[in-house]
Amino acid sequence: MMRKLSPGSKIVLASHNAGKLREFSTLLARSGIIVLSAAELDLAESEETEETFTGNAAIKALAAARVSGLPALADDSGFCVSALDNRPGVYSARWGGPAKDMQVAMERVHREMGDNPDHRAFFVAALCLAWPDGETRTVQGECHGTVVWPPRGDHGHGYDPIFVPEGESRTFAEMSEAEKNAVSHRGRALEQFLKDFIEA
Ligand code: IMP
Repeated sequence: MMRKLSPGSKIVLASHNAGKLREFSTLLARSGIIVLSAAELDLAESEETEETFTGNAAIKALAAARVSGLPALADDSGFCVSALDNRPGVYSARWGGPAKDMQVAMERVHREMGDNPDHRAFFVAALCLAWPDGETRTVQGECHGTVVWPPRGDHGHGYDPIFVPEGESRTFAEMSEAEKNAVSHRGRALEQFLKDFIEA
């Protein structure tokens, strides 16, 4: 029998990103889960040294669970371009350079794709829930679509302006947050998380 979270449980979110904290807290509050932030507990940020999204999510979740003594949730995500052998992948944030400039990152994708006719790409989001004794559970969500150039739209973040999800003509950056969440990799991973990890 897999361990699950019950309503009223406290978990730590192993992310220092205020936007992610807000998004996860809102969704988890509906299930009666109380979310504490890593910053609140003064947890250090871990290095993402793995080659997989689930591996990196697990590093972050395990570190936060061990230090806090509470179950901890961490996520890791990225953008995979078919013509680039699924890069930037786990290096998605790093393609923005030291300034994390996503314009630079999108230009690099465009430049490296050159005139390759294969425009397929997908986003991945992995979520890991870890317990202080080292048990972990992970789920992964994907959202497939195509790369467009030039970038369009000013909502969202990261690679959103150059990605059109399947069945859409707008980029993620041209969609509202709610429209994006309904089909996004993160939305899908969270849906799976709520189903698998929380007691009904
Ligand atoms: P991390 O998950 O915070 O380690 O970083 C993931 C990186 O992947 C971000 O810096 C973005 O560049 C990219 N990424 C992840 N999810 C999205 C998304 O929904 N839209 C655009 N870019 C994303």
